[in-house]
Amino acid sequence: MPTSLVIIVPCYNEEAILEMSKNQLVDFLNRMKAEGLATENSKICFVDDGSKDQTWALIDGFVKNNPECVGLKLSKNFGHQSAILAGMMECMNQFEAYITIDADLQDDVEVMREMLIRHQNGAKVVYGVRNDRSNDTFFKRFTAETFYKLMLKMGVPIVYNHADFRLMDNIVVENFSNFKEVNLFIRGIIPTIGFKSEEVYYQRLERQAGETKYPLTKMLAFAWKGITSFSTSPMRMVLWFGAFNFLLALLITVYVLYSWAVGKVVIGWASTLLPMAYFSGSNMIAIGLIGEYLGRVYEEIKGRPRYIIEKRVE
Ligand code: UDP
Ligand code: MG
Repeated sequence: MPTSLVIIVPCYNEEAILEMSKNQLVDFLNRMKAEGLATENSKICFVDDGSKDQTWALIDGFVKNNPECVGLKLSKNFGHQSAILAGMMECMNQFEAYITIDADLQDDVEVMREMLIRHQNGAKVVYGVRNDRSNDTFFKRFTAETFYKLMLKMGVPIVYNHADFRLMDNIVVENFSNFKEVNLFIRGIIPTIGFKSEEVYYQRLERQAGETKYPLTKMLAFAWKGITSFSTSPMRMVLWFGAFNFLLALLITVYVLYSWAVGKVVIGWASTLLPMAYFSGSNMIAIGLIGEYLGRVYEEIKGRPRYIIEKRVE
């Protein structure tokens, strides 16, 4: 049975490459239709994330000339995650499977065939995982891999070396729509939704044209968003640091008492040093405690679903 599929492509200032990407994607989709893996009404949805170049004009042209292309134009630049979100939400309940892929063809288009097959065999989420980054610059590879390791250490539920190249079933997209948070870190949310998930591996290719839209500053902001929307461990670190300071104060006390006993003291030294040591330790513990509650409040405010139903039988 062929699957009705939509391929969602976020595009920000991609005029240099979009024509090439569109040709590859249309060609791919047509082959999938011919093979009986995708239905005739399968689509490619280009989301223009407030581009300042000719991106939208190109998309508009694709839609006029290719029945399989549709376009969405966001009113301004909302960022990669919001562009993907817009594509998914606007297509929701119209397709069986949703694949998100970058416009720059760094993710291997052919891997989507394997994703489709896995989906037809029952997987509800298929993650595209890069197992070879030799085409990335050393800097990109190093920063990206440090990012994944750090996130995993902090308890953020991500799939190692998986960006936003993935297939999702409609049921996953529907449940995803119940995550109302504004600080979107999609690759952390999908694994928390559950359902049968699989991984397919591919080699990360070089960007074919144009420049990265993720310079270091954006990458850092993205990493920070991921950590702060999924992990309270930075706050817990404050608490531990406070406890450590307090222990240090105890050691200082021993040292002060010893100095006093051997008569090596100046008047006023102990009465200045000790309160300072104890107060800074207890201050930090108090801040850490407030942080713990703030973390709980933050979790409540996000209002994430508390359970997700896979099947119901009556
Ligand atoms: N992108 C977007 N909005 C932005 C930044 C990027 O829609 O504000 C899109 C971009 O067009 C591309 C994808 O997100 O399709 C990934 O960006 P890029 O390839 O520049 O990131 P990199 O692969 O270098 O991490
Ligand atoms: Mg890229």
